[in-house]
Amino acid sequence: MRRKEKAITDESEIVDLLSSETIVRLALAEKNVPYMVPVNYGYRDGALYIHSAPEGRKLSIIGKNDLVCFEVESGVRMIPADSACGFSMAYRSVIGYGRARIVRDREGKREAFEIIMKQLTGSEGWTYSDKALDKTVVIKVVIESMSCKKSSS
Ligand SMILES: Cc1cc2nc3c(=O)[nH]c(=O)nc-3n(C[C@H](O)[C@H](O)[C@H](O)COP(=O)(O)OP(=O)(O)OC[C@H]3O[C@@H](n4cnc5c(N)ncnc54)[C@H](O)[C@@H]3O)c2cc1C
Repeated sequence: MRRKEKAITDESEIVDLLSSETIVRLALAEKNVPYMVPVNYGYRDGALYIHSAPEGRKLSIIGKNDLVCFEVESGVRMIPADSACGFSMAYRSVIGYGRARIVRDREGKREAFEIIMKQLTGSEGWTYSDKALDKTVVIKVVIESMSCKKSSS
């Protein structure tokens, strides 16, 4: 990171950010064509969990290349100023890399859905019919590296 003073290295702060947000931007690559897609997610123990239809472009790309880059941001707020060049943005953001794998078994999906629903709603103990489970898959991104940046000026 060029601005070293803005780096967050405290792992608990990074985990806190990933555990409290709801939208992640997943960047995928098919040969030399980038593809970015926003999705909801849940975070637990070094992995992101994303609920998805069982087909579509992101699934097709992951099937050929499981390397994923992702971004999550938090606390975005414009800091106004009297001059255009004085404006800035407050934020905390994480950029990470990982490997995506598709969870297709019902029990694995049920566990992942609970992680996602807990993060999205704050509540646990939801029920998922086999019919609903069979219509979806879960993308599990096992995080391999991350950086975190904080700007307040
Ligand atoms: C806030 C938010 C949360 C979401 N949460 C989820 C989630 O949890 N799970 C999930 O599966 N999807 C979610 N979506 C929808 C997601 O962004 C994709 O539209 C969806 O996953 C289909 O992706 P795909 O690669 O299979 O695209 P396909 O259906 O295969 O479509 C391919 C083409 O459609 C276009 N396209 C696809 N998605 C978008 C988009 N969002 N905006 C503009 N153009 C698009 C692109 O040009 C792409 O090349 C969310 C979207 C938003 C904005």
